[in-house]
This record gives sequence, structure tokens and C-alpha cells, in this order.
Amino acid sequence: MNDIESRLLAIKEQIATHARLAGRQPNEIQLLAVSKTKPLEAIQAAYQSGQRLFGESYVQEAITKIQCLKNLPEYAGIEWHFIGPLQSNKTKLVAEHFDWVHSIDREKTAQRLNDQRPETSSPLNVCLQINISGEQTKSGINADEVFGLAGIINNFPRLKLRGLMTIAENTADMNVVRENFLQMQTLFNRLKTQYSSVDTLSMGMTDDMAVAIGCGSTMVRIGTAIFGSREYK
Ligand SMILES: *Cc1c(COP(=O)(O)O)cnc(C)c1O
Repeated sequence: MNDIESRLLAIKEQIATHARLAGRQPNEIQLLAVSKTKPLEAIQAAYQSGQRLFGESYVQEAITKIQCLKNLPEYAGIEWHFIGPLQSNKTKLVAEHFDWVHSIDREKTAQRLNDQRPETSSPLNVCLQINISGEQTKSGINADEVFGLAGIINNFPRLKLRGLMTIAENTADMNVVRENFLQMQTLFNRLKTQYSSVDTLSMGMTDDMAVAIGCGSTMVRIGTAIFGSREYK
């Protein structure tokens, strides 16, 4: 068993444990493997261990990987999730190559993704990114902007509104993180009652996955615990 395979197994066991502790079924929580900055071989190793959902944050890096794997039939069936900040001059590549975007935080990017989504692809799955901690350096909309933007996106035929995404406050204090996640859970439950397409609460990373699952996360985004720490160039 290679490193990535054993780490994936360990993460899945942790997801199952924390789901049960929260009175939930393990299969209510999807695992998104965040492979940003990691080489193609790391994605291939995870794929061979059964992983199919991958998250990337940098458009150019991601497109290179996606195109390499598209040419290899033995890596069919990957679902690509864009989770990074999205500039409007990069929306076309994202609309053409990804299955999901978690980081929608303005109408303009949503409009462009809608207009640029190829007719031959199914509608692009999107989540609104919420800056739940209110930190100035963070991307995302405020909680009070969610329903306005959701209404606009719901009218875009080439986008499918799936839910909400957040990154908790950057702190080791899990009580603060839990407060953030509980607010997200409340928002998510309200959004779900309005839109039948909404089923995804994307929250929880390597350091706060357990708290996120306890607060209703349906998709955890895990990088470091699967692929090891990242080195930025
Ligand atoms: C990098 C990243 C992750 C993964 O973080 P880890 O702490 O390595 O698990 C999750 N979500 C987003 C938006 C990221 O940019």
C-alpha cells in the first residue's frame, strides 16, 4: 500500500467515525481530494485507490493536469472541482474544463461561467463562497448577500446551484471554528428549503474536518492529510 492510499483510507475512517459521533451516515459526506500544487502522479495514485473527486485552486496548473488525464482512458470518470479565487479573465477555461466551482462570490463571474459553459456539457455545478468569519483578507460574500445572489444564479440555465462553501476563520480555537460552521449550517438549511437543487455544504479542511462534519458538512476538502504539506513556488 502506498502513502496516498493509506492516508486516503485513514481519512475515510475518520469521516465515518465523526459522522457516527454526530448521528449521521458516513455516506452523507463526500471526500474532495485537494491536489493543488501536487504532481500528476499524486492524483494518479489517489485515483488508483478509488478517489474520483479532485479539487484544484490554480486555473493554469489545473488545466494542464485535466488535459493530461483526459488523454488517458484508464483515468476516466474524474469529477473536477474548482475551489480557488476566480478572476474573470479565467472563467472560460473553468467553464470548459471543470464540473464544479465552489468559489462563486459575485454575479459577474457567475454570468460569465453561464455564458461560457459549452452546450455539450451538463450545467456547471456551483456553490456560493461565504466569508463567514468576516476576515478582511478572505474571499466570499456576507451571509446577508446569499439569497440575492442565489436568486440570480438560479435563473442562469447553464449553472446549477448546489450549495454553499466556506473556509473557517484562521485560528486554532475550535470553538470559534464551530461558531462559523454552525452559522453556515443554518444558512444552508434555509437555502435548501428554497431551492430543490441545493444539497451541498462544502466545509472542512485537514485541520477542522471533524468540527465541520459535526456541523452538517456534506463535502470535506482535504489536501494536506492526503498528499502531505504543500510547497509554494
Ligand atoms: C487548499 C485548500 C483546501 C485544502 O486544505 P488542507 O488544509 O490542505 O486540507 C481546502 N479548501 C480550499 C478552498 C483550499 O484552498
